[in-house]
Formats: sequence, C-alpha cells, structure tokens
Amino acid sequence: KKKPRILILGAGYGGMMTASRLSKQLGYNDAEIILVNKHNYHYQTTWLHEPAAGTLHHDRTRMRIDSVIDTNKVKFIKDVVVEIKTADKKVILEGGELDYDYLVIGLGSEPETFGIPGVEEHAFSIRSVNSVRQIREHIEYMFASYNNSEIKHEDYLTFIVAGAGFTGIEFVGELTERIPELCKEYDIDRKKVRILSVEAAPTALPGFDPELVDYAMSLLESRGVEFKISTPIKEVTKDGVILASGEEIKSKTIVWTTGVRGSSILDKSGFETMRGRIKVEPDLRAPGYEDVFVIGDCALIINEEINRPYPPTAQIAIQQSSTLSKNIKALITGSGNLETFVPDIKGTVASLGGKEAIGIVGSKKLYGSSASTMKKIIDNRYLYLLGGLPLVVKKGKLNLFS
Ligand code: FAD
Repeated sequence: KKKPRILILGAGYGGMMTASRLSKQLGYNDAEIILVNKHNYHYQTTWLHEPAAGTLHHDRTRMRIDSVIDTNKVKFIKDVVVEIKTADKKVILEGGELDYDYLVIGLGSEPETFGIPGVEEHAFSIRSVNSVRQIREHIEYMFASYNNSEIKHEDYLTFIVAGAGFTGIEFVGELTERIPELCKEYDIDRKKVRILSVEAAPTALPGFDPELVDYAMSLLESRGVEFKISTPIKEVTKDGVILASGEEIKSKTIVWTTGVRGSSILDKSGFETMRGRIKVEPDLRAPGYEDVFVIGDCALIINEEINRPYPPTAQIAIQQSSTLSKNIKALITGSGNLETFVPDIKGTVASLGGKEAIGIVGSKKLYGSSASTMKKIIDNRYLYLLGGLPLVVKKGKLNLFS
C-alpha cells in the first residue's frame, strides 16, 4: 500500500514545528513527509526588527533547514509555491508540481497596506531576511549619502516608521540603539537625525496595557523618538509621506509596519478568507476540506471572550503545530477523534532596544531588564522546542543578563 503523502508548505514557525513533530510521531512506514520552502533556510520572523536596524547580524536569525529537520524522515524541497489546486489535490510550484494526501498551509503573511497608495512602491517592510538586509543597507547608505553631497538633504536623515504596533515599536527601539552608532561612524550630530513613529490609532501599541504603553513611549521619547499618534498616512511617495491632514513629511526611508494579512496564495487558490486568512475549524482544517490544514499567520481563530480574531503570533503558530500534528496522525492511523485547538496565551513581551522591554506574562507586568530577560528566554525556548539544547547553544541568546 502506498504511503500517504503529507505536504507542508512554508518553513516558518508553523511549518518547521509541524515537520519536526510529525517526524517524531510517525514511523517511516506511516507517511511520506515533504516540506517546501522558498529558501533553504528557516528564519526567526520575531527577531527580524534587529537585523533590520543593524543591531544583530541576519545570520543569527536563520539556520539551514536540513540542519534542523530529520532528513531521513522529512524530504525538503526548495521551491516557491505558486498556487494550491484543492480539486486536484496538488500544489503548483515554480519548478514543478506536487500532489498530496494531506496538506498543511504555513505560508505566513504579507504586509497589510490598506490600499494606501505608494506603500508597495516606496516603503520597506520587515518580512524576511532579504527584506531586512535591504533596510539595514539602505539606512547606512543614507548616512553615507548625507555626508557626501554638497546640499544637506535632511530627508536622508529622517526615518519614518509607519504603524506603532508591536513590530513598529520593536523596530523603533532597535533604531534608537543603532542610530547613535551610525552618527559616530559617519561624523553626524545625533540631533540632525529624526526617528518618527506614525500611528493612525489613538494610542501606540493598541491593545497593550496603558501603563506599559506609557513606559514604552516615555522611554523611546527620551531616546529621541517623535511620536505622531492619531495621525493616519494618506499616501506614500518617493519623497516621503502625506498625512491625512495634507501635511507632507519628507523622508527617504519609510518602513511600513501596520500589520499583516495572510499569504496572497490563499486568495489566489480560491479559499474564502478574511484579511487574507482562512477562518479554520476547531481542528485547524479549512472549512469544507477533509485534508487541508492551516497554521500560523494563514489561519484565523476567534477569541471567544471578545469575539475578535486573535492577533497572529509565533506563539499561536507553535501551539497549533501540536494539535495539527496529532490530528494528522489520527487521520492517518485511524485512531480516535480530532483534537480541538485551544490557544494558551502565556503572555506578550515587546523589546524596546538594548536592555529594555515591556510585557505581560500571566497577569504580571514586566518592565526594563526583567522583561528583556524574559524575551530572551522566550526566544531560546522556541529554539529548544525545535532543535533541543544544541540549537540553543548554536543560535540562542545566551547573554541572558547582559
Ligand atoms: P512565518 O514564520 O512567517 O513563515 C512562513 C514561511 O513561508 C517563511 O519561511 C517563508 O519564506 C515561506 N513562504 C512564504 N511564501 C512562500 C511561497 N510562496 N513559497 C514557499 N515558501 C514560502 N510573534 C510572537 O508570538 N511573539 C513575538 O514577540 C513576535 N514578534 C514579532 C516581531 C516582528 C518584527 C515580526 C515581523 C513578527 C513578530 N511576531 C511575534 C509574529 C510572528 O513572527 C508571526 O506570527 C509568525 O512568524 C507566524 O509564523 P508562520 O509559520 O505562520 O509564518
């Protein structure tokens, strides 16, 4: 009898953890597991604000996929997913096609532009190793260009971060660490550089505890960040941003961090989506499909307490991999009912650069270095789940208290 084929799309938190768990839970003869990803490496999306600002080398955030997964049990294919054809149970790749018996969609997210003109053409986004490498290089180039031109272009030294949510604030925090270093390196007075955090909502970090928001904003302001709250951006141009008020802020660097939507492959493949995400069944299958599971930023799940979707996080993606792999195993071995996914939110910690962070863990608020230490523990915990102690030693943040 032919082994059923499990095809996992995307090697992010969701895809990697699913591949890792299935390879442990299933025997060689139970199934064939294939993992497809557009790069031969896995990167930690939750760390990307650091290499984007240039405070951490991007190699620290990535690892070769075949160095982490059990290649005896999981076949890795480096290719780009183009479309999913559920009617034919197959996936079209740039370099060919693959059929499946069970599909796991873990293709992650794309920036949410809200249709604002100019974002795609003129703004940067923090979404992959390649995208953050470009941001880091561009920022440094702006410093070099400012110095080496007769006319002093102030817009070269104006850095706009659009969106003061989790990612925007973490990136601004890193910038406040990196900019003074660049000023020193390029002989530029720190006072000449502007870092602006522009947010449409009436507060930075919407949804976060107000006391923690105050702490974060005061700290970042003391490091020279200018906040523009309740300030929607109407358009992004090659020269800067135009606010809803009509005011223009000139800048050559606009980093767009106003949230994400699910991979566009989902819409393209005919799935019903909300902000690009599939509202999954309690067992994490796409509604109407027996054989298609969805994980991470591609999956939408509702927080019943407030009747709103959970924000997509790595934390949820990792937890989903546990339910998902058990459910696939149950289908393949015909053993028992499918499990319902219930998120168990342990907390949220946002770094603010250097030794600073804020967060809630359980019901406890954390500030400063204790929050920063907690952040490193969370980062290391994921590496431990994925690759055990060796991976923590190789890729972890071991300087916990410095
Ligand atoms: P991802 O981890 O994004 O992985 C998707 C994978 O699919 C990638 O490897 C990509 O290369 C691949 N892929 C995409 N399209 C294709 C294609 N067409 N073909 C082949 N491969 C493809 N969450 C938290 O829980 N805590 C945090 O502190 C936190 N901090 C964050 C900080 C930043 C700066 C950012 C940007 C996000 C943060 N998040 C955090 C959110 C978290 O990173 C995401 O929710 C998480 O990465 C989702 O995991 P995923 O597996 O769905 O997708």
